Amino acid sequence: MPELASPESESRSVGKDGFSPGRLSDSPTGQLGFCAACGSPTEERDVEGSMRPVCLACGQVVFLDPKLAVGVLIARDGRILLGKRGPGTREPGKWSFPAGFVERGERVEHAAAREAREETNLDVEIGDLIGLYSSEGETVVLAVYAATAAAGDPEAGDDLVEIGWFSVAELPELAFPRDRHIMEAWLSSQRVMGR
Ligand SMILES: [Zn+2]
Repeated sequence: MPELASPESESRSVGKDGFSPGRLSDSPTGQLGFCAACGSPTEERDVEGSMRPVCLACGQVVFLDPKLAVGVLIARDGRILLGKRGPGTREPGKWSFPAGFVERGERVEHAAAREAREETNLDVEIGDLIGLYSSEGETVVLAVYAATAAAGDPEAGDDLVEIGWFSVAELPELAFPRDRHIMEAWLSSQRVMGR
């Protein structure tokens, strides 16, 4: 699947069309609209310092959770596999690494391998956690893992139109600026490990 979020103000969504916007300012609560307990309409109100949906009938407050996404840096010969995003995605024509939402009940590492396979058609071995990325006001938390790929050629899957291996020193135009920092973190970890 397609993608996730960036540090300062950007977010990626994960999904068939790439990540959907995940900023709190996009009114995450607007999607709910009705009380899960009694079915009455909800309205956003300040509860404990944050705007949260509150049922107009029974007063139930909806506490929204963050959403977990996972990204994968698949490496081979010191380069990372990136995909070029197709029309209809966020940031079409730009590049990003495989990423997607973790499903409820799914192991995070399994989600990482699943996303890698869906987007690149490669079976990968998930390695170290590179980092966990979140920012103020962002509804998506991104976990990024290093991975190595079994033999075989990658193929662009999901909403990608092209796929290629890139060195961190020569990255193409990235869809999400934060990705550069993440890949630099990966590079540093490789040096520390002497890989
Ligand atoms: Zn209610």
